[in-house]
Amino acid sequence: MKTDCLIVGGGPAGLVAATYLARFRRQVIVVDAGASRAALIPSTHNLIGFPAGISGPALLARMRAQADEYGARRLTGEVTALTAEKNGFIAATSVGEISAAKVLIATGGLDVEPALPAVRDAVARGLVRYCPVCDAFEASGKRIGLISYGECRVKEALLLRRYSPEVTVLTAGEEMQLADQDAESLKAKGIGVVEEPVAALAREANALSLTTEAGRRLEFDVLYCALGTKLRAELAAGLGARTDEDGALVTDRHMRTCVPGLFAAGDIVEGLSQIAVAAGQAAIAATTINAELLSAEQ
Ligand SMILES: Cc1cc2nc3c(=O)[nH]c(=O)nc-3n(C[C@H](O)[C@H](O)[C@H](O)COP(=O)(O)OP(=O)(O)OC[C@H]3O[C@@H](n4cnc5c(N)ncnc54)[C@H](O)[C@@H]3O)c2cc1C
Repeated sequence: MKTDCLIVGGGPAGLVAATYLARFRRQVIVVDAGASRAALIPSTHNLIGFPAGISGPALLARMRAQADEYGARRLTGEVTALTAEKNGFIAATSVGEISAAKVLIATGGLDVEPALPAVRDAVARGLVRYCPVCDAFEASGKRIGLISYGECRVKEALLLRRYSPEVTVLTAGEEMQLADQDAESLKAKGIGVVEEPVAALAREANALSLTTEAGRRLEFDVLYCALGTKLRAELAAGLGARTDEDGALVTDRHMRTCVPGLFAAGDIVEGLSQIAVAAGQAAIAATTINAELLSAEQ
């Protein structure tokens, strides 16, 4: 297969870029392995244009339909290797080899899940959440737990505290580095820290109850997990694209990586992991890709 642009990943970033490129009358192939973070969203309420909220799967279905409408070709599969060539790239994929003048990496990442039973079901029910920027508003006035260890996410705890007087940081028995000043900030805001290991977790009707190894029982309406995100930057990094200390791809303001012809958009890029940001970056990347293709055609 041959195309003007190969898009690796069919989440919001990849699908917005596909729509733009198809509307620029470019041949575009999207290869998607089907593990979008957006597919886990029970209902998003901060996406402009959907005041009543929309579920991640419903949003993705609309985005796919829009890309299809303009002729983007979408394939279900995995891109396993990328090689740079004189006039572009060769991609090895589970659905055959693809030769592309440009490649957009929109592979995103997945949150590190807490070791809790049936965690995906709890995410679907909004009991376990990963992103206060996304949905802390919907946790207003609720009993909030924040699982965080390693470098404690003090800022995240303080952000959540603006929505509820009942916020507790749980280290789940893991070691946590908490500077004295940060410990003071948490204390001043009435944010408790529980460092005991969690022995059991049970789901009540619409809440989660945790029992620590010391026998303490804690109940939460919402449990945020701040254990980091595993980004999928290997393909780009293998070509020499620069990553930051979190493993995110570094781009210029046109979403170009340091590898000529290789672009990136969405959660895989350093910065705020949000659908609106992914869409904006994808629009910029697609427009630059089209401009570079036009220049090459002159
Ligand atoms: C529970 C939850 C709630 C959220 N709520 C909100 C919210 O309310 N508002 C908001 O703005 N954001 C929210 N987010 C964040 C939002 O989902 C992400 O910012 C968004 O999905 C990023 O889009 P993306 O296209 O960059 O990556 P993704 O959506 O993760 O898509 C990446 C795609 O690339 C595919 N892929 C990866 N590697 C390969 C490969 N080698 N070959 C082929 N395909 C590959 C993956 O399978 C995946 O389908 C939430 C996230 C979670 C987990």
